[in-house]
Amino acid sequence: MILLALLSAASPSHGAERFDYQLKPRQIAPDTWFVEGRRESFSKTNGGNIVNVAFIVTDEGVVLFDTGPSRRFGEQLRLAIASVTDKPLVRVFNSHAHPDHFLGNQAFADVPLSALAGTAAQIRQNGDSFATSLYDLTGDWMRGTEVAPPGEVQRAERETIGGHRLRFLAFEGHTGADLVMLDETTGVLFAGDLVFYQRALTTPQTPGLGHWRDELEQLAQLDYRLLLPGHGPLDSERAAIGQMLDYLAWIDATLSRAATLGLTMTEVMALPIDPRFAAISLTRYEFGRSVAHLYPGYEEAAF
Ligand SMILES: [Zn+2]
Repeated sequence: MILLALLSAASPSHGAERFDYQLKPRQIAPDTWFVEGRRESFSKTNGGNIVNVAFIVTDEGVVLFDTGPSRRFGEQLRLAIASVTDKPLVRVFNSHAHPDHFLGNQAFADVPLSALAGTAAQIRQNGDSFATSLYDLTGDWMRGTEVAPPGEVQRAERETIGGHRLRFLAFEGHTGADLVMLDETTGVLFAGDLVFYQRALTTPQTPGLGHWRDELEQLAQLDYRLLLPGHGPLDSERAAIGQMLDYLAWIDATLSRAATLGLTMTEVMALPIDPRFAAISLTRYEFGRSVAHLYPGYEEAAF
């Protein structure tokens, strides 16, 4: 035991590589940087780095959209931002109340932090239990992480920050309170988890798949050039919303039909997934979770 402890203490690379999220901002539009997470679910290997965050370097300073899954992530994100600009952070936004999007807030305690009123309320209500479950899933990556709820309410309105004309939109489809930010100056749409791309969507708090689809139809009407999903790659071909609509419609139809046939939840979870969704990561895993969240409602509607 003593020998092992000495060996691990003597290995510098072991210590240096531990808990390093390897955040590498990539410029994707004028003043606009994207930090892409892995297309995976939470694990002790990825430390919760499964989420996209992005920032705009405006004339006034940096505007950050989402802070990641842990205090360590937030701190490393701050360093990554400092590696591309010496401008100060001026605003931070949380897109919604899922833990991978806001548990980095602690690292930005000196910056005005805004979210929709519903998001702030959900973070105050569920933040601790979300943090506890992330501790279970990712372990020590989370050490020192505490919930820091946003202090300011963001409304659906336009605001110009440092020469960037930003439009904020309030949706509900993913969690009941989902902030979307459109930079009208560059045409970049920061979609949060209203849009997953090439990575299966998650449904634990959705008010309903039909509601989500209606909002995606509205999102599709916006004048944007690049879409940054909450999970998955950048979309420069206006393909992500179409994939979401198709996949949501398929889940909706599959669960409706299963309920009409009287299938049990276990039978529904085992149903084949349409091959046209084969390229989307984690479809089988997330479909099972979605059946658990949503199927009881479909069964009720069928009787
Ligand atoms: Zn989410």
